[in-house]
Amino acid sequence: MKPENRPVILLNPGPVTISERVRASLMKEDLCHREPEFAALVLDIKKRIRNIYQDSAADYEALLLSGSGTCAVEAMLQSLAPRGGKTLVVANGIYGERMASMLETQGKPFTLIKGGWPEPVNLTAVEEELKKDAAITHVAAIHHETTTGRLNDCAALGELCGKYGKKFFVDAVSSFAGEEILFADWNISALAATANKCIHSIPGICFVLVKKEEMETGASQASALYLDLYKIYREQKNGFSPFTQATHACVALEEALKELEDQGGWKSRRERYRTISRKLRKEFAALGIERFLPEEAYSSYMSSFKLPAGKTYQELHDILKKEGFVIYAGQGGLYHSIFRIANMGDILDSDVNRLIGVFKTIMKG
Ligand SMILES: *Cc1c(COP(=O)(O)O)cnc(C)c1O
Repeated sequence: MKPENRPVILLNPGPVTISERVRASLMKEDLCHREPEFAALVLDIKKRIRNIYQDSAADYEALLLSGSGTCAVEAMLQSLAPRGGKTLVVANGIYGERMASMLETQGKPFTLIKGGWPEPVNLTAVEEELKKDAAITHVAAIHHETTTGRLNDCAALGELCGKYGKKFFVDAVSSFAGEEILFADWNISALAATANKCIHSIPGICFVLVKKEEMETGASQASALYLDLYKIYREQKNGFSPFTQATHACVALEEALKELEDQGGWKSRRERYRTISRKLRKEFAALGIERFLPEEAYSSYMSSFKLPAGKTYQELHDILKKEGFVIYAGQGGLYHSIFRIANMGDILDSDVNRLIGVFKTIMKG
């Protein structure tokens, strides 16, 4: 039975279970997005986002948009992926393939290196393509491929970008604030992320961290008005945005950013995530629930497991839902073979122990 004093624990990779502190911030007064107090809030959020990683503070600007993580990824590719050059998309899951679909929809030139979902990114293939095709100007990749829980080797991809003089677009929607990101070393040109994953806020606001130089000297490649980062960059310099923002989501985001700082920043968060996810994988292994990827492939907070023999995802899901936990299905072709557990959010040790207890009962039955 779910304890009365705990909310339903979301073990899907965002939205996450938020803390009472962030929840309380949602009860504040309404704000007009054209008033100076809202502009001050936006400027504060932009500064706190830049400061999560030391080396993004000076050279990058955080541009806020109202929308889910996909909105940030699409705004990044809309505004910056060139029509005159070519983007090399490196995919090993749904999200990588989604970036290629976006470029296709936008009618922009790209090459897709489509890897198997359980596999690491194929660095040899990337390097060969970079050597072979002089038209390539940009590389786009997923940092944490949420499809499987694999943390991709962005350091190696970034190094290749440096070696061949390419610009690097990173979808860090599900790793920002929960994994190491080295903006300068990885040659990051722009990076997309969201409020409702490792930052532990509610859905509604996403953002792109983009190199200021790019915004000052480049020309917009967007064929969409709403997603044009150049326009947003100019207007958001003083805290205002071209269109109505999700104002309450901004208030919650500021509180979540303060909470992240009070809890010791991304490194502490990664440690907390790792403690839980490693414990889960260890306990599940003891129960005979097999991992989908090798242990060392996983990000700090995501695990994927093969469905226990004789159990469908829906059966597993329904038992856990009754106990106050929401797990996550495999996407696409993986629906019938795996389930996923993300342990971001305001999760207590008691929640983790209770979850393991439920799985013990399931595996006995
Ligand atoms: C969650 C996620 C997104 C965005 O998905 P939304 O449903 O739009 O929030 C993009 N990329 C990755 C890697 C993700 O995990």
